[in-house]
Amino acid sequence: MVKLILLLLSLTFTVGQAQIRYEDYFTDNTLRFDYQRCGTATSEQVYFEGMRQEGKWSGTRTRLIDPFPWGEYRVEVYDKTSKKMIYSRGYAGLFSEWQSTAESKVTSRCFYETVLLPYPKNPVKLRLLTRDRKTKLQKVFEYEIDPKDYFIKKEAGPVYKAYMVHDSGDPTKKIDIVFLPDGFTAGEMDQFRESVKKFSKGLFDSAPFTANEDKFNIWLVEAPSVESGTDIPGKGIYKETLLNTSFYTFDSERYNMTYDIKSVRDVAANAPYDAIIILVNSDKYGGGGVYNYYGCFTAYNPQSVGVFVHEFGHSFTWLADEYYTSDVAYSDYVDLTVEPIQPNVTTLVDFNKKWKSMVKPGTPIPTPRTHQYKGVVGAYEGGLYSAKGIYSPMNKCKMNWINDPFCPVCQKTIQEMIDYYTK
Ligand SMILES: [Zn+2]
Repeated sequence: MVKLILLLLSLTFTVGQAQIRYEDYFTDNTLRFDYQRCGTATSEQVYFEGMRQEGKWSGTRTRLIDPFPWGEYRVEVYDKTSKKMIYSRGYAGLFSEWQSTAESKVTSRCFYETVLLPYPKNPVKLRLLTRDRKTKLQKVFEYEIDPKDYFIKKEAGPVYKAYMVHDSGDPTKKIDIVFLPDGFTAGEMDQFRESVKKFSKGLFDSAPFTANEDKFNIWLVEAPSVESGTDIPGKGIYKETLLNTSFYTFDSERYNMTYDIKSVRDVAANAPYDAIIILVNSDKYGGGGVYNYYGCFTAYNPQSVGVFVHEFGHSFTWLADEYYTSDVAYSDYVDLTVEPIQPNVTTLVDFNKKWKSMVKPGTPIPTPRTHQYKGVVGAYEGGLYSAKGIYSPMNKCKMNWINDPFCPVCQKTIQEMIDYYTK
């Protein structure tokens, strides 16, 4: 009987895997779908911008349906004839963060966004979904894509030289990180290259990346800016840079990000990539990371390596900040009556879905933030910008303080994402 169940399970697994064969539905290329996400604190609309055919699809070709529940947003692609879902991916964006700011209560605003998918062979329906306050995904936009549509741009876009600085093999089987420079002039490209090597080393010095070094390729694109530096609006400093990064995003001084995702994607398209990292030419402390979108940080602050690895935790997996005392621009970030989706925080509404299985018997839940429980996996009150009602897995973690290692829960989450891309 056990054998039969095992056989059935393995058959189901095989059929499940065989259901979406990449080559049945997609060409070798990438399709970029551009749109604007607009609204207020409580409303949201999506407006189509355009489509572009890009180079070879470098994402996974065997796991086309996203197995993770992460990200405020999700893109789903359905074959038009069979109505079967053939691709999906969770991601996040700046609009949902902005919806938690005071500005969103008094004005409406648009954010340029893009999603990438493997280029379809036949007509498909693309759906964009957004999580509501209860974390349920709701459809906000649908668009029918005819892959033969002659309005899909085929032009190359701005061309820059791309180099691989860490080579582990075939991009379709590895995780490709591309570093993009912002505020580095043509004369500063040597510095940019040296910095990318330094940060690659910094990533592979951190667990769990150390044991997975051979699963990553690292690329850089030499794309110079007119001026050196980045915008610091609060100090009246503005620089002409290629990717338009700026401190004071959402009026938070150290939040260095860019709204100009169109330029980011244009420059990134010069290399195969799964993850974008923007390296900003500044020694001022700062950065940010948005899940499956991009990570951004300054190159020359003494804390830069720690900031990079922390932001990569946000942008590569959907790890939440575990800190709860710093000044951030958000209010009412989480509904405490539901379990948040992020893997490393809990409201204890449904702790079974989180890391409860990693907590040793006898550890009190909630776990006191005392010396006795130092280095112990538990549920410590405080996390995701809130001192009350949200709990984190450990007293120490890189998602709380950038110079600490990732806690076991965050490490496990990162390992699952590495396996998703490479197994
Ligand atoms: Zn953690």
